[in-house]
Amino acid sequence: MLELRNINSYYGNIQALHDISLKIEEGEIITLIGANGAGKSTTLMSISGIVPPRSGEILYKGEAIHQMSPDKIVGLGICQVPEGRHIFPDLTVAENLDMGAFLRRDSQQIKQDLDYIYDLFPILADRRNQPGGNLSGGEQQMLAISRALMAKPQLLLLDEPSMGLAPLVTRQIFGIIKKINQEQNTTIFLVEQNANLALKTADRGYVLETGRISMQGKATDMLKNKDIQKAYLGM
Ligand code: ATP
Repeated sequence: MLELRNINSYYGNIQALHDISLKIEEGEIITLIGANGAGKSTTLMSISGIVPPRSGEILYKGEAIHQMSPDKIVGLGICQVPEGRHIFPDLTVAENLDMGAFLRRDSQQIKQDLDYIYDLFPILADRRNQPGGNLSGGEQQMLAISRALMAKPQLLLLDEPSMGLAPLVTRQIFGIIKKINQEQNTTIFLVEQNANLALKTADRGYVLETGRISMQGKATDMLKNKDIQKAYLGM
């Protein structure tokens, strides 16, 4: 579904990504784990067109997207939930969700998707008329994921959904990520520092170290890998 070929991305003169190559098949959950500053967010932003790569290729369903604008990329069905969530704090929950469907015209289907989201996250239904800024951190993360789902993405890019959340809320959100993948057939690219939970949720994973892919494999194998256990799983 998505292929990165030798991606090099920069901030000014600083090279953040070096020759990143990876593949995501339709229907998979893929995780990218790594330490602070390894380049995880930059990888997502290179895919979504926010930090376009200086060289290399990104192919989505065979089509080159690495020179496309972010709005075109969203239009193709790739949606990113940014780190730190960035919901609209002064808009209500319902209005935030409406914003997610901004590019869509299929109003009947939009209504069904909204019902699905309120089923997934009943707390959002309860709070639909409250400003987004009044929600707890976990609820804001649920809203950010839901807003992206309202765009009906085929590929969902999630940047650190666990950030700043209590373990119980994190587990709940990861359970729902899996559910979205299974029920909606949404392919998921999950960037996470919580390597343990990410690898337990994903089918396959990649490890990023200072802008380079250092390891990859099936998530179940990576959980048993001694180097990964030592560096990322605190064992
Ligand atoms: P974190 O988990 O802390 O978000 P990350 O793995 O997502 O880390 P990135 O945010 O992609 O890492 O950062 C990769 C590198 O690029 C780091 O060295 C970082 O300092 C640098 N970087 C990120 N954003 C900018 C920017 N706007 N300007 C300059 N350098 C940046």
